[in-house]
Amino acid sequence: MSENKWVYYKNNGIANRSAITVDLEDWYHSIESIPVQDWDKYESRLEENTYRILEILNQYEVKATFFVLGYVAEKFPALVKTIQLLGHEIATHGYFHRLIYRLTPEAFREDLKRSIKVIEDLTQQRVLGYRAPYWTITKESYWALEVLQEEGIRYDSSIYPIKTYLYGIPDSPKYPYIIKENNGNKLIEFPPSIITIWGLRVPMGGGFYMRALPSWFIRWGIKKINQEGQPALIYIHPPEFDPLKPVIKLPLKEKILHYYNLGVIEQKLKSLLSAFSFYPLKEILNL
Ligand SMILES: [Zn+2]
Repeated sequence: MSENKWVYYKNNGIANRSAITVDLEDWYHSIESIPVQDWDKYESRLEENTYRILEILNQYEVKATFFVLGYVAEKFPALVKTIQLLGHEIATHGYFHRLIYRLTPEAFREDLKRSIKVIEDLTQQRVLGYRAPYWTITKESYWALEVLQEEGIRYDSSIYPIKTYLYGIPDSPKYPYIIKENNGNKLIEFPPSIITIWGLRVPMGGGFYMRALPSWFIRWGIKKINQEGQPALIYIHPPEFDPLKPVIKLPLKEKILHYYNLGVIEQKLKSLLSAFSFYPLKEILNL
């Protein structure tokens, strides 16, 4: 998979436009070792944390894209409806928070369709975008893109252009590109932002990386991306806005991933919101 085979997505006016994306899930949905059947046992903190994010976005008059877990849309319809009414884009994060490369294509399609149905029934608007749980569209689950396109998804934001123990295609493009084209129907991939320093790809777009890196570095990265005429993509999760989120026993790797530096994300987000222009993904991609 060499980079020169890829076709970057060209759309006049996307330079200097970046995106804030929110994966709408509760703190225990994205902990791999907690099975779905145990989800009901944990205290939900989703509404409070999401309202905090909505308040901040509202303060800076920024519209974002929310990748909503279908399960969340079913449990918290009023929350999702509020997000929509505030003018944010509602996309899907699948129904259950599963690792795509552990699913069969059939099971993946079923999970995707279920999420689209519950979200569209609620919002009465078409779902255009998808983000895989844990960024798990990788070389092993590349088939998922075909399924996304067949189910009417217009853009995907699931391929991390680095490699970690869970995810990533390290030689994939770092800016939006056309990933599949069938009879004029394009599926666009919009990866999370990384920057290249001395030939090394450094993730900076969100989650653990955003919590660990200083604000000035992330601002410098976004500026560099915009100077190349490209939009940056930032991603956040409601549990990251919750320094008091319940602590459970986890392997060290997961513990660091989920709990490191939770208190800082709010300030970091604000420093980005005051420095750059952010739009929902469907607007940046002109869909
Ligand atoms: Zn997630």
